[in-house]
Amino acid sequence: MKIPLSPNRFITCRFENEQYMIYVGEYGPSGDYLSERHLSFTLTQWATLVMLSKCIDSTISDITNGLRAETLFRHIGSNKHVSVSYKYGVDLRQFYFLYKINDIRPNRKGIALTFKQWHELKLALKLLPKYIPSIEDTSACILRDDHANQIGYWSCRNCNPNSYSLV
Ligand SMILES: [Zn+2]
Repeated sequence: MKIPLSPNRFITCRFENEQYMIYVGEYGPSGDYLSERHLSFTLTQWATLVMLSKCIDSTISDITNGLRAETLFRHIGSNKHVSVSYKYGVDLRQFYFLYKINDIRPNRKGIALTFKQWHELKLALKLLPKYIPSIEDTSACILRDDHANQIGYWSCRNCNPNSYSLV
């Protein structure tokens, strides 16, 4: 599977550690290697991104219409975040927890999609089940039954990757 978002940016998937990982990334000039500009998603994290897509769209529409300067900043899982701004478009990025400041900081690993590329990504959504049948049965982590209570949510390493720092 290699679905284009632009001439050198693609959605791809790999089966690794017994699960599907979806990659959104930029490839090198010869098109055969994935550059540092990429972010990978578990199916659960991908479902979360899809769940947030309406929210992302309305932010884009507000920015495009000059109604707001930005911004949207949401956790996708395991310190991966999506943010939307006029300057960077739809930025999909890995963050890391910095103990010194007790807060997260952006990593170089990630990819900033233009609004057009984000639109292409949404068009690609309906193609994915053909390659990854289980994607249709996967819901966002936060929607799972065991996340209905606080303990379930707080003990989830995907939703709360830095929770041990709260102890
Ligand atoms: Zn979770």
